Order: sequence, then C-alpha cells, then structure tokens
Amino acid sequence: MAIAIEIPQVPPVGLLRGSLGPSIQEFVLRVVFSVVSDPGAFSGQRVSSWWRSQGFNARVGGATFSQHLLGLAWDFAPGSERLVNLLNAQGLVAIAEEDHTHVQLWTATELFQQIEATLR
Ligand SMILES: [Zn+2]
Repeated sequence: MAIAIEIPQVPPVGLLRGSLGPSIQEFVLRVVFSVVSDPGAFSGQRVSSWWRSQGFNARVGGATFSQHLLGLAWDFAPGSERLVNLLNAQGLVAIAEEDHTHVQLWTATELFQQIEATLR
C-alpha cells in the first residue's frame, strides 16, 4: 500500500542562495504577512507540501511546471475558502484544490516571463 501522506521537503540551501532566493523570500514573507493579518485562518491547517524535487513531484502527480519545483508554492491541508481569499489578498495566487489550498508566488504567465528573462 502506497503512503498517501506527503512529507514536506524543504528547498536545498543552494536554491535559496541562487537567483531564486529573493523570490522565495518574497513568497515566504507574503505568507507570513497573511498569518499575522489573520492567524485564525490558519487554525487547523498544516503545510503538506513546499519544495519538491523533480522525482518527488512526478510521484505525487504534480504539474510539469509546478512552482513547488522552485520552492515558490505551499499547500495547506485541509485548506479553506477563507485561506484562499486571504492569500490572494496578499498578492499571491491561491487555488482551492480538492483536499488542500495551493498557493504560489507567480501566475503561469509570470513564471514563463521569469524563465524567459533568465534565458536572455
Ligand atoms: Zn500545490
């Protein structure tokens, strides 16, 4: 029987020190501001996913261009509409999934703009 519970992985230090570091900091700070502005919205929630390696992302059926691969997405389980609204109000991209709230720093368009910029 497969283990269904996903144990959160943390970004490798090299990722935090690289060019994505400031974006990861911005992402985490916006989540922290959300917690400070409405702690009750996080009551009973746990972080079920943060950074994912390519292999791990594939195993859990994550999107090919998932921002979890960059350390720029968190999942809160069980999630809530209150959490989605709060995180979106903080300028993040929060989505209600079946059993969690997914939140990421960038829209898909912004992600591809960032990738383009690094290729220039
Ligand atoms: Zn997610």
